[in-house]
Amino acid sequence: MLEKTGIATREQIEKLLPSPGRRAEGPYAVMECFQKIPCNPCSTSCAFHAILPMDDINDIPSVTPDKCTGCGACAAVCPGLAIFIIDESKGGGTGTVTLPYEFRPLPGIGETVKAVNRAGEVVGDAVVTRVLPGKKTKTPLVTIEVPLSLVHEVRFIRCEAHQEEDPSVADTLREIPAPPQTADIGEQDDEVVICRCEGVTLREIRDLIREGYTTVDEIKRISRAGMGPCQARTCGPLIAAEIARMTGEPLGSVAPSAHRAPVKPLPIEFFLGGDTE
Ligand code: SF4
Ligand code: SF4
Repeated sequence: MLEKTGIATREQIEKLLPSPGRRAEGPYAVMECFQKIPCNPCSTSCAFHAILPMDDINDIPSVTPDKCTGCGACAAVCPGLAIFIIDESKGGGTGTVTLPYEFRPLPGIGETVKAVNRAGEVVGDAVVTRVLPGKKTKTPLVTIEVPLSLVHEVRFIRCEAHQEEDPSVADTLREIPAPPQTADIGEQDDEVVICRCEGVTLREIRDLIREGYTTVDEIKRISRAGMGPCQARTCGPLIAAEIARMTGEPLGSVAPSAHRAPVKPLPIEFFLGGDTE
């Protein structure tokens, strides 16, 4: 189910929750991180050692609820935006959800926003009670108050009125240049960055083609274009298009770069038989 929809089931969420007694005591972290991926900032960020050490970086994080204070430090550093701080101890039939919110403008304290579930559906209204701007981590945390019945449902907010009112949001989006398309690569300025992961410009690609590097793999090896986290998803077709344009070869005859399956990173001593020197 999760693999097909990206949405965790109720059973999967319930397995992550602490005991009812711990839930009534105060805030706690829920880590909706279900797959083995090479990632561990949550574990290293917890000053209370509430997240079990991840001996293997691919381990799935696991919280010890009795050590967790609900401070939210882990939620602010999780690149997967997968950590939520839940507080069911307030009483009065409401609880709070603290969630990562990487949009601008940030909502204001006291603002009523739409509460959204994991499927992106609006399930009710929520009131913003705290906003941490995330100056250091770049991930703001927004705390909202919702009916207690929704604390395990709501995982995002929509501030529609706020965004419609603020023209700077639309202006900012207009200012972000779209990446070039393969069809118009020839019209592009030399200084356009073709490989955003490795910061390689079109000028560098063109210089290499003039020097005689006329396959995507050759250019990748010599410039590092395509070796970053996106693994040439964006720059690969653009480099192929520029090779075709400059050499006059049909685009279909320019071989794409070799792709390898993602593998787990290994320390260099693994290849040296344990020798670390
Ligand atoms: S909320 Fe704070 S104490 Fe709890 S796991 Fe995250 S960093 Fe640790
Ligand atoms: S930081 Fe977030 S995505 Fe990475 S392992 Fe921890 S919970 Fe999962």
